[in-house]
Amino acid sequence: MGQSYYYYEGVKTFTSNLEKNQVVYGGVLPMAKMATGDWVRLVIFPLILDQELKSSGRSVKAKYVFLVPDWDTDEIQILGSNRFYLKPHGRVYKYQLDPEGCHENRSSHWESIFLEDVTVATQDLDKIDIEIIRASSLLSESSFVNMLRTALNEPESIIELAEKIFGPNDSPREPSRLAGPVCRQCKYSVGEMEYIKDWDRIQYSCSRCGNVQEADISEQEYWVQSEVLESAALSVIDPTLKIIRENDEYLNRESLIESFIDSNNKDRRDGFDKMVVPFVDSERGGHSIKELMEFAREWDEPHAELA
Ligand SMILES: [Zn+2]
Ligand SMILES: [Zn+2]
Repeated sequence: MGQSYYYYEGVKTFTSNLEKNQVVYGGVLPMAKMATGDWVRLVIFPLILDQELKSSGRSVKAKYVFLVPDWDTDEIQILGSNRFYLKPHGRVYKYQLDPEGCHENRSSHWESIFLEDVTVATQDLDKIDIEIIRASSLLSESSFVNMLRTALNEPESIIELAEKIFGPNDSPREPSRLAGPVCRQCKYSVGEMEYIKDWDRIQYSCSRCGNVQEADISEQEYWVQSEVLESAALSVIDPTLKIIRENDEYLNRESLIESFIDSNNKDRRDGFDKMVVPFVDSERGGHSIKELMEFAREWDEPHAELA
């Protein structure tokens, strides 16, 4: 298992020991306007980490990777007390409308806004090496497809993990789904699918427009439940360090993601280190990036308040 490093003290300890180049996973980009907590996790700590690294004089480099959850959706219905009992009733972010109409869709809108915000906010600072990965672009990767296949065909095994971590579900009214195809015609994910095992193909009939499609598993598009999508993406990104927040909901998420990755990659190497950052619970109100970086260097508790 990797090590955990806490707050700014942790950043200093981590960078002073580094010997190899780092792939730092910063997390999922929000599909809405970023709050202060998002800035702290996605921008402030990567910047602080990068500054420490550069000022340490080591020749180690770091790349910061972010995930665009374009195959996730908020158009779902929760079926019980455990939020892994769910089914989609709409479209994934990739096929939802841009809220402001300026980009192709909702996920490319928030992806662009993130990049613009970061570029503007870091104008006076050293550039950091950022890579943004769309979940939908990972379908050519075998470890991604393997986890997707599990979610499509054996969701029970993941739901069992989720019940251990998030608690049992009260009487489910209907079976939960964790992934399903996107209809090629109407782009909704509301239909019935059948997995054709011998050919590794998926047949899907849309209950909204009546379209029937059949193709190889790697030749369709999907809706995938949030944590499952992130797990599958992480199996490809294979970070050396992951930045995480320290609140209960988030830590439960983390442990599910790690268990799912481990159960799919038995020969996985040591696992990644974790950089734990405080949970900041407020709207971003007029603080500059430099101010936030100064505050962040003083935070040493799970929760941070902004004056
Ligand atoms: Zn837009
Ligand atoms: Zn359809």
